Amino acid sequence: MPSAPLYFDYAATTPVDDRVIETMLACLGSQANFGNPASSGHAFGQAARNAVEQARQQVADRVGAQAEAVVWTSGATESNNLALKGIAQGVLQGVMQPGHLITSQLEHKAVLDTVAELERQGWAVTRLAPDAAGLIQPAAVQAALRADTRLVSLMAVNNELGTITDFAAIGERVRAHGALLHVDAAQAVGKLAIDLNAMAVDLMSFSAHKAYGPKGIGALYVGPRARPLMRAQMHGGGHEQGLRSGTLATHQIAGMGSAFALAGQPGDSEHQRLAQLARRLREGLLALPGVTLNGCASQRIPHTLNLCIDSKGFNSAALASELALSTTSACNSASNAASHVLLALGLNEHQARNSVRLSIGRFSTEADVNKALEVFGRVLATASAALW
Ligand SMILES: *Cc1c(COP(=O)(O)O)cnc(C)c1O
Repeated sequence: MPSAPLYFDYAATTPVDDRVIETMLACLGSQANFGNPASSGHAFGQAARNAVEQARQQVADRVGAQAEAVVWTSGATESNNLALKGIAQGVLQGVMQPGHLITSQLEHKAVLDTVAELERQGWAVTRLAPDAAGLIQPAAVQAALRADTRLVSLMAVNNELGTITDFAAIGERVRAHGALLHVDAAQAVGKLAIDLNAMAVDLMSFSAHKAYGPKGIGALYVGPRARPLMRAQMHGGGHEQGLRSGTLATHQIAGMGSAFALAGQPGDSEHQRLAQLARRLREGLLALPGVTLNGCASQRIPHTLNLCIDSKGFNSAALASELALSTTSACNSASNAASHVLLALGLNEHQARNSVRLSIGRFSTEADVNKALEVFGRVLATASAALW
């Protein structure tokens, strides 16, 4: 891409790491591991099955889960659908009547639209509003629990804001109540410590392409308390313990395993490098007139910044031509609506439309950050000059 803008949109998707590409290529082509993982009767199938199971172990190890609790899907959207619809259906088969679900106004559309569909089918839904800091607090979840609450669905890291939900504490309360907790962790891998063996989380959604793996592959963790209630939403050959049929995409799966094995940990040197870069970016941008941070300032991953630019002549298109940042969540951009997340935080329509998200990652450099500070400074100076 000649004269492409600098990339500041890692929260929308990440490039595939070269080491992941190597792993994927080893599963394509006539001389490679191309067999059908379900063809257990010959060596081609067995080799492919081995690659799939190794990747399953890599994903499980990364999040402290048992390998058999990891179900392959096409991405976090499908994982969220399977988690919510699969459990809702299992509950119905047991008690023959819909119950109550809790989620929040800050969730990804893959959760909100799925919950809306369940609501049409008769489920009662509570959509929690964030507190003054922009967070969903454990006490708010606790207060919303009802006798018939079956499932709570909240995200680990907000894709638009970068803020963190204390899902471990929420899980304790949800479990004590006898309900299940689903966590959309698409934005969390490599950025937050996740140890499912130690956390009261029953279902967790993952996506490869937010963590330097390929698009079109994800996984759902189905813990032991969720497993008996889970019903398949995709029927066919009974793959994935009957939970999700379809020939397994060996190259995608191997890529996701490799990406998760390479994913960092909070506190490691790469995390520190990015935290330092992000701090410079954040401090430099917040020093510009009219720029404020959206979402809680402290309980957040450093990589993602959402900024409101309250300057009358400001036009985010001028920024986007030089910096590939998000002027609206990629997931909402089809509808061109103001961000439901920013509106839920209390921003007005104008403020929500004048907000941008910058997110950095593995291939971000100090030069990129310097350039972003320069571009923002120039564009905002032009915007305020235009008022005179
Ligand atoms: C990207 C994202 C999704 C959707 O994931 P896909 O793998 O692209 O379907 C869901 N939830 C969150 C929080 C995301 O950031």
